[in-house]
Amino acid sequence: MHLLKKGDFGKFVESLISRHEVIAPVKTDIVRFKVLEKGDGAEGKVVFDSPLYSAKEFFLPIKEPFYYFKKGKICESMEDGKNARKRIFFMNRCDINGVHRNDLILLDDPVDPYYREKRDNAILVEIPCVQSKRCSCVDIGLIDCYDLRIIDPGQDNPNYVLDAATEKGRHMIKEMYLSASYLPKQDIPSHQARNIAAENKEVWEDYGKDCFSCSACTAVCPTCTCFTIDGFMKLNGEEGHLYRELASCQLPEFTKVAGGFVFRKDRGSRGKQRIHCKFQYFREKYGHNRCVGCGRCNEACPVSINIFEYFGRLK
Ligand code: SF4
Ligand code: SF4
Repeated sequence: MHLLKKGDFGKFVESLISRHEVIAPVKTDIVRFKVLEKGDGAEGKVVFDSPLYSAKEFFLPIKEPFYYFKKGKICESMEDGKNARKRIFFMNRCDINGVHRNDLILLDDPVDPYYREKRDNAILVEIPCVQSKRCSCVDIGLIDCYDLRIIDPGQDNPNYVLDAATEKGRHMIKEMYLSASYLPKQDIPSHQARNIAAENKEVWEDYGKDCFSCSACTAVCPTCTCFTIDGFMKLNGEEGHLYRELASCQLPEFTKVAGGFVFRKDRGSRGKQRIHCKFQYFREKYGHNRCVGCGRCNEACPVSINIFEYFGRLK
């Protein structure tokens, strides 16, 4: 454990900016994740709030090319080196848990190499949590999965405590010319498993009546990672690219197959899929909820659908 004077936080941030790409919640017109520039370490710029839009797009861009081709030459998008720089992310505990959930699925066999590249270059720094009205993380089963954690021991304490839990975190401390020490990871708490019975017809009917199928909930969710793959080619056939684009299980097209058949036509069945995915299927396979309780979906939803209320009604 190491101490960082609260008054030196800005210098700490500036020194990181001079070496790496640093992404943190910044207050502009709204709070949002931003790549910091020189001077952003100034007091009050980096905040500890959780922005409505998560940092998911730094790992899973909305649209990501796999490769380009031009006149018979193929160029892999990963080889252009644009993601080679180390990226340091300042994130709340729930968002770091969101990255951990995405790791479980995207680094599982078969590994997603595009995600892996960005993940390998990322260092996750947990910032002190400022709970907002939308947070529901207390009972959701969050774990310690940071590289470095900044702990605020209390308003009256003049220091933050830095806790490095991984080699990446310890290296960051060494870089700051502080002496490193090892703190063992805390045990992962066991969380109450919940098996959702399939018969909850009324719940899904209500969901179907309430939901507009706009997909705002999955767009802001840090743990919704579904995507579709598409390609583009010029009419002369000499130039094009293959890309993936983030998709949403809340849209009818998501389950459309050849011949035009849609597996989940009604909104209730899509809501059922969303809640089962978050609280049953993922935990059966990986032992965690695929929800970190950030409450973004509820805030972004035009009709304020609360996933926890629906989950609470299930038999
Ligand atoms: S489902 Fe909602 S509360 Fe859970 S992680 Fe996604 S946005 Fe956050
Ligand atoms: S944001 Fe609300 S209305 Fe839109 S798809 Fe999600 S649950 Fe339905």
